[in-house]
Amino acid sequence: MTILYNRVALIGLGLIAGSMSLAMRRAGVAGEITGYARSSETRNTAREIGLVDHVCDTALDAVKDADLVVLAVPVGAMGTVMAEIAPALKQGAVVTDVGSVKGDIFASVLPHLPEQAEFIGTHPMAGTEHSGPNSGFAELFDKRWCLIVPPEGASETEIQRLEKFWRALGSDTKRMEAEHHDLVCAVVSHTPHLIAYTMVGVADDLSRVTDQEVIEFSAAGFRDFTRIAASDPTMWRDVFLSNKDATLEILGRFTEELFALQRAIRIGDGDHLHDYFTRTRAIRRGII
Ligand code: NAD
Repeated sequence: MTILYNRVALIGLGLIAGSMSLAMRRAGVAGEITGYARSSETRNTAREIGLVDHVCDTALDAVKDADLVVLAVPVGAMGTVMAEIAPALKQGAVVTDVGSVKGDIFASVLPHLPEQAEFIGTHPMAGTEHSGPNSGFAELFDKRWCLIVPPEGASETEIQRLEKFWRALGSDTKRMEAEHHDLVCAVVSHTPHLIAYTMVGVADDLSRVTDQEVIEFSAAGFRDFTRIAASDPTMWRDVFLSNKDATLEILGRFTEELFALQRAIRIGDGDHLHDYFTRTRAIRRGII
């Protein structure tokens, strides 16, 4: 594979940035990879495990001379980080983010983008419930979608280069407009996380079933369904605060359906339950 960016800077050194570094090395698409994270503990771990070629002690040092800068911090920190690195960006640098929300990130990042740089949003639809510098692995993006979300006026050449980059990291790419991205993600990712967190909260709140019983007798349903409730609280707090409208809309729809099912159970409407489960099973079976 040919080098697509001579120097890539990763800001934030957690699951996504770590996996990107390992996938970039596997694909040979970056000449040199620098990295920065806010906490010195994370930087030290990244150094110890050789996660990137150079771990820098400031974000400014990390992005200096970078051709591609990846913002891989929680959604709520994107704007502050952009403001911090702006003065050090070189002419023609491309800044991208990997955040799970796009509308809010555009609003917080774009006002700080200096004239000499370009911004194109991306969202790898891949993750695990783990976080931090030790959690990354090169295969994370293999055969997963990476949504490419260019703001109006972004350079077509740079969009195509970034698409090529994500495909080299193993992903399929698809372009999407920011508002639609946020609605799609509210359906397929954000609301399911909220419901998983709630399910664990309900189990914890039920005094007649002890926490020990929940842990001990966790059958496949609870275990499978709530795996994602082990995800990072800061990341998910920021996602919901940033994708407020879309998640509230989907949560409203979810509540309506849940009430309809609750009523069907109460009045013994087996046909309703059976029809509902038949329709939803067919859809779920279509997802590999
Ligand atoms: P993570 O918690 O594993 O890593 C976040 C990193 O950001 C850490 O190294 C932390 O030290 C650093 N950080 C936090 N605030 C910072 C700041 N102000 N300045 C510099 N560094 C800072 O998180 P992650 O899972 O890698 O998520 C990173 C981004 O990717 C988030 O925006 C998230 O929405 C998005 N994302 C996550 C997933 C997932 O499933 N985990 C999937 C797709 C996209």
